[in-house]
Order: sequence, then C-alpha cells, then structure tokens
Amino acid sequence: MNKLIRKAVQKMNPYTPGEQPNDPGIVKLNTNENPYPPSPKIAAVMQRPFETLRLYPDPLCVRLREGIARLHGCRVEQVFVGNGSDEVLALCARAFVEPAGSIGYFEPSYSLYPVLAAIQELETRPVRLTRDFGWTMPPRYSASLFFLANPNAPTSIQYPAATVARFCRSFAGVVVIDEAYVDFASYHCANLALSLGNVLVARTMSKSYSLAGLRLGYALGPEALISALYKIKDSYNVDRLAQAIALAAITDTEHMKRNVKSITKTRAKAVKELEKRGFRVFPSETNFLWVRPPAVNAETLFAALRKKKILVRYFPGALTGDYLRVTIGTDAQMAALLTALDR
Ligand code: PMP
Repeated sequence: MNKLIRKAVQKMNPYTPGEQPNDPGIVKLNTNENPYPPSPKIAAVMQRPFETLRLYPDPLCVRLREGIARLHGCRVEQVFVGNGSDEVLALCARAFVEPAGSIGYFEPSYSLYPVLAAIQELETRPVRLTRDFGWTMPPRYSASLFFLANPNAPTSIQYPAATVARFCRSFAGVVVIDEAYVDFASYHCANLALSLGNVLVARTMSKSYSLAGLRLGYALGPEALISALYKIKDSYNVDRLAQAIALAAITDTEHMKRNVKSITKTRAKAVKELEKRGFRVFPSETNFLWVRPPAVNAETLFAALRKKKILVRYFPGALTGDYLRVTIGTDAQMAALLTALDR
C-alpha cells in the first residue's frame, strides 16, 4: 500500500479501453468507431481557429450549445457539452450522488459505470439482465443515479421507449439515458429528458459523427440538472478546436445520416452472414453486433482472429465471456472478417 494514494484508488480496477494498435494492416472492429470519415465541412473549420488557439475557449460553449439546441428543438439552458460523453457521465456521478448514495446500471453494460462509482467510493446497485439480456427490474429497486445505456452496450439491444419512460417516471433518483449509439437505432428518448425533471440523455459525436478522436459529448435535460453540471466542470472542459469542429459537424447531419445508412445496411448483411455460419446474433440497434460463436470458445476465436489481424472485442467474465462484440466496419472489412471465420 502506498500511503500517498487513496486506498479506494489503489484497490479499484480502472476502465480498460479497447486496443488502439499502430499497425495499419489491422482490420479494426474492436472499439465501435465509424469506418467512414467525418463531414468534409470540418476541413475548412480546422484552418480557422489556428491563430485563436492562443485564447482560451468559450467556457460555456454557447455557440455549439445553440446549434445542439436547434438540432433537438430545445433551449440552450437544456444542453451541457463535455469532453466526450465519458466526461458527462463522470460529472453526473459527481453532481447527483451523495457520499452515502448509490449508482445503478445494467449488468452487463458499459464498463465505465462501476469505475465512476469506485472513484467516489459509492455503492453500486447493478441490475442483472436476463440470460438473453432482457431487462426486468428487481422489486423495490432504488439508487441515487441510474446509468441506463439504451441501446445497451455491449449487447446492442434497445429497450422499448415505453419501458424506459415507465422506469424514469417511477424512479426517485436521476436517470441518465446513455444514448451513445442511438443514431443507429429507430427511436430515441430525448423527449423524456426534455419533459421530466429527473432525466438526462447523454449523446456522443464519437460514433455516428465519426469523431471519436475529437472528444465531444453532450447531455440534454432539465435546466436545474444541466446547471449543476456547469457548476462542477473544469473551467475550459471543451477546447476551441472541438467546439468549432463539432459545430461544423452538426450543421451537416446529412453526411452523418448517409454514413449511418451505409453502416446499418452493412449491419443487416453481416447479421445474415454470421447467422448462416451458426452464430447467435442479438438484434442490434447500434454500430456493432453482439454474437455468440457456434461450437468454439469465444476467447479462442478472439485470439485466432487477432492472429489473422482482425481485431474484435472480448469481455471476459461470467456474463459476457461466451460472446464477442464486433464493430460494423466497411463492407470490405466485414468481408475480411467472414473470410477469416471461414478459414
Ligand atoms: N457510452 C457508451 C455506452 C459507450 O459505449 C461509449 C464508448 N466507449 C461512451 C459512452 C463514451 O463515448 P465518448 O467517446 O463520447 O466518451
């Protein structure tokens, strides 16, 4: 034990991000990035803030928030912008949970949630999903904050809007609906964040907008919760380039939607091909597939694919260890995956 470091920090397991290998020959289907480039409108913007980088950025991201507010038909005061949605989630854990409070989330779900609880030494109240990753709530369940990933990750399943609405209305704490993948789905729950006092929706530009390298996420929700996040954030949490680039990206949603369409088309084809080969494929409303390989151990298959320079994601553990998460790439990348599987 090192006395200089908090015991909780020494004990906790950190979040493990997916690998970012340098080898350009690798077919990278492991971190749910978008295989297509972001909007070309961004190129022009990247030249402009060059000289102004000597100045601090707008601490309140007003212009970008105005753009996001227009996009969602809400007021600027209902929008918080963060350095990736990871920052938004971390700030929610800090703003909405007392030291004696608790954080809830599905199990399995996004593996950052328990890490955020551990950093603050908060009790966790995971909700075990059914064998097929369905959602049922234990009786008399409560928590101070619930991270509700919908569509869920890594399972790719989206729960019905009516079920989410019912849960939000009955829950006494704050619900953060993490909609990181929702642009690949056929419905979203932003209306709940804009109408209920205890609900935030978190979005990211990392997936559908092809901007994982930028670090830009945002939350929509009631003004009281949004202004609490503004009270505790770092002074300049979103840099000048990120604000300018994100604004350009959201003024070209057509580009994003075209990429999403290509990805969902590739997704449909990949589902068929994998099912043909005996994989169990869960219904995906995301840019990835949650699959159970036939007759072969998931970890063994992960390692074999890796040898063939195809990188997918394997999550060890009792609930996830029989499955692989495969990001939807280009048609060519998916063909490479299938060829490797056939070998
Ligand atoms: N939520 C979920 C469910 C995710 O899978 C991810 C991506 N790892 C994030 C949030 C974080 O996204 P961002 O890149 O905006 O931090």
